[in-house]
Amino acid sequence: MIFEAELKNGRFVVPECPKCQKLVWPPSDSCTRCFGNTVWRTADEPGTLVEYSAKDGKLFCMVEFENSIRVMGALECDKAPAVGQKVRVLSCGFDNSPRFTFSPE
Ligand SMILES: [Zn+2]
Repeated sequence: MIFEAELKNGRFVVPECPKCQKLVWPPSDSCTRCFGNTVWRTADEPGTLVEYSAKDGKLFCMVEFENSIRVMGALECDKAPAVGQKVRVLSCGFDNSPRFTFSPE
């Protein structure tokens, strides 16, 4: 899928349906509403930190983009994170599953 190939190239893209403007998530080549082909585009940044947790000295988080797409990943920040703050994709990749690292804006 294009989603995975783009992630491997460090690009976070999302599928949007050109017919009904639906952002399809989980990512798919076809729209879950009208079954048309989706178009891939870069996700709008920044995202919003929805929740986070600490494990083994590392931070993990859930980030929401465009009020609809939620992605999990690692969080890198100097000071304590706060739910609701804006974060950007620091890096991304694909290794059996999507890998994201976020950092505060
Ligand atoms: Zn559609």
